[in-house]
Amino acid sequence: MRILDHAKPEDWYSTKSVGDDVTYIGEPFIEEFYRCNIWHIRGRDGDMLVDSGMGVVSLTAWVPLVTERPVQAVASHTHFDHIGCHHEFENRICHRCEADLLAAPTRKNTLADPYVTDEIFTKLPPLPYASTTYAVKAAPATRIVEDGDVIDLGDRHFEVIHTPGHSPGGIALWEASTGILFSGDIVYDGPLIEDTYHANAKDYVRSMERLYDLPVRVVHGGHFASYGAERHREIIKNWLGNRT
Ligand SMILES: [Zn+2]
Ligand SMILES: [Zn+2]
Repeated sequence: MRILDHAKPEDWYSTKSVGDDVTYIGEPFIEEFYRCNIWHIRGRDGDMLVDSGMGVVSLTAWVPLVTERPVQAVASHTHFDHIGCHHEFENRICHRCEADLLAAPTRKNTLADPYVTDEIFTKLPPLPYASTTYAVKAAPATRIVEDGDVIDLGDRHFEVIHTPGHSPGGIALWEASTGILFSGDIVYDGPLIEDTYHANAKDYVRSMERLYDLPVRVVHGGHFASYGAERHREIIKNWLGNRT
């Protein structure tokens, strides 16, 4: 067995501006495949956070950016790697189909069991962290959204696109005026997960077909690197091609 060091809390998160007043927040000591992309978006009247990481180190304590202004913390879906710090935020948004999961997360229903072991880290989170007892805290939604709802930052408007398939309440956020899509785990530039306990193959295909037609300029996914329009259509075309 590998013996891993514990990281210092101040080193847990990294941040990087990616343009369009969007900031990437990452957890570099988690292996890439398991590492969720956290996105912070600045608007005129407030900010939006898309996902909040594993929750093993406080996001509000160590990433000042997320507390500078009022923020709406959206859950692209409720797997453990995306909602761990949601309990730290006052305004919490998720889709109706996963509201019960955000309100009552367990190791099983968030997939912490079986995914979370020491093997997913290159440095362990600060003590008293232990993979065997890791769990996400409850963070009941303060706003439940459906397909077509809008998250309003004053000068920026993100449309909720319901994208079931990877999980029943998965959502993507679409800013038509800039062509920015936050896609969550339904599509990103890496191995997609289609076999979770609440995945649905038919829904997955429908969601992919719907996203294919969006005139995207840049896609910021739930995992791996961001990409542009051409790669967006290539990923989806290849994926659909393997299924029909
Ligand atoms: Zn994920
Ligand atoms: Zn997921």
